[in-house]
Order: sequence, then C-alpha cells, then structure tokens
Amino acid sequence: MTKLVASLVLLAGVATACASSPQAAGGKVSVTAAFYPLAFVAERIGGSAAVVTNLTPPGAEPHDLELRPSDVVAIRDARVALYLRGLQPAVDDAVKTFQDPTRAFDALSLITPRHLGDGSVDPHFWLDPTLLVTVAAAVEQRLEKAAPASTGLFQHNLTQLDSELAQLDRDFRAGLANCARHEIFTGHTAFGYMAARYGLRQIGITGLNPEAEPSPKQLTQIIQLARKLHPTVVYAETLVSSRSVDAVARAVGAKVAILNPIEGLLPAQRNAGDDYLALMRQNLRTLQEGLSCRS
Ligand SMILES: [Zn+2]
Repeated sequence: MTKLVASLVLLAGVATACASSPQAAGGKVSVTAAFYPLAFVAERIGGSAAVVTNLTPPGAEPHDLELRPSDVVAIRDARVALYLRGLQPAVDDAVKTFQDPTRAFDALSLITPRHLGDGSVDPHFWLDPTLLVTVAAAVEQRLEKAAPASTGLFQHNLTQLDSELAQLDRDFRAGLANCARHEIFTGHTAFGYMAARYGLRQIGITGLNPEAEPSPKQLTQIIQLARKLHPTVVYAETLVSSRSVDAVARAVGAKVAILNPIEGLLPAQRNAGDDYLALMRQNLRTLQEGLSCRS
C-alpha cells in the first residue's frame, strides 16, 4: 500500500514536473507563436534562450489555420503560447484547455482593436510598428517570468528590437509625408492599422479574410470609386491571388503591385534572410512608388 502511494506520488510528481516545467530541453524556453509576426518578436527577444515554434507553416495563410496533431502537442507543452484571439479558432480552442492561463498570451488584449463596418475585429496590428513595440514589451515580460535567469538577455534584445522598430516608424512617417495620393486599393483589407498610423486611406477589395471575394455589387462600387480616384497601382498580396484585384486594376488601367501583409514568410523569403523589418521596408518602397511620394 505504502509502495503504491509512493508510486502514485512519484507519478504525480513527474506529471506535475512535465506540466509546469519552465524550460524546454537544453534549458531553453519553449514558445509557440500562432503566426509569423508573433514568431518574429519571440525569436528576436528570446534569442539563444528560446525555442520558437511557428504554428503557421511557411507559405501558408494564417487565417483559419488548421492545426496538425504535432501543433496541438507543441501548444500543450509550451511555456509561453502567443496567439491572436479570433484569427485562428483552432488555436483559440487549444489555449482554452490550459490549466495555467498565464501561459497563453493574446496579443490583441494589449491594443485597441480596429473594427470594420460589419463589426468584425481587424487582427493586422503588426503593420503598425509602434503596436508591435507594445506587444514586444509584453512578450519580453512573459519570457522573463518563464526564464528569470535569462532576464538580462531578453531585456537587451527588447531594447535592440525597440530601436529598430522606432527607426522603421520614423522612416515610414518621413517616407509617406509628401505623396500625391493617399488612397490604397488593397486585395485583403489588412492595412487598416498601417493606414491609420501613416495618414493613408485603405479601400479593401477582398475583405479581412483574403479568401472572401466581394459580391458583384461591391466590386462594381469599388471600381466606381477607383474610376474617381484613378490609382496607378492596385495592391495584391503575396500569399493569395485575387481575380477581384485584377478586375479593379484592369478597369482603371492600373498596375498590380505586391503589398505584403507579412502574415507569413515564403520559403524563398526565409532563405534569403528576409524578416518583418526587411518586408516592411519593401512595403514602404512600394507605397512610395504607387502613391508618387517625394522623399
Ligand atoms: Zn490577414
């Protein structure tokens, strides 16, 4: 009997140790990030003291991501699980099962979310670098709590990232200060936070979820607006192609250029060493050209 109790206590001890283990193998903090911008922040701040798993595979579209069993295991075992409530219901469900809710971190909880006309929440906060600074500071706090021994490293990395994001914000403000046009026609309404920060007006063609094409009536209205505003460029995105974007561009004789919502990296971008900062700078150059900005 005593032996059995001892075994049970031992088993319980092992189970508890697994569930609350603050660090992954090799003494690193295990982090899951629901999609690329959150993974970027976690990797930059966690550095050599963290192992970050991005749940959205390279080249995949994060909206309505479906999880593989191995992802569910990764989330279950993560010391810190970064996600954005409402973007990926499968991830929302997975973090709901956490016994310790402080392991889960909803990036949207930190910012004032933008709403669209239909009341839906716009998740694309990371396209305003100053909002990513806010989220980065909170991620650093979570990592500190998970691995206090690495506090110095995390704080150092956060300072570095903050200054790069601040420089990016200054470059966007300066680069978009003197433009002939301010309207951006975008496939996928992902640029609301960016537009709000830098004085642009976004006219979304396909809606918040890039797979939702507009109705024929909506498309006609967008084309009418485009005929009035005569953009020379209409913006498509990397991960999804859109007939509607092409239709708007054809109707007004505009070019189609790529404005990247940075929801994920294509394998080629990852291999080329591109990251959030590099892709945002590409976006800035694309906007400056399309809006005829003087620098
Ligand atoms: Zn999106």
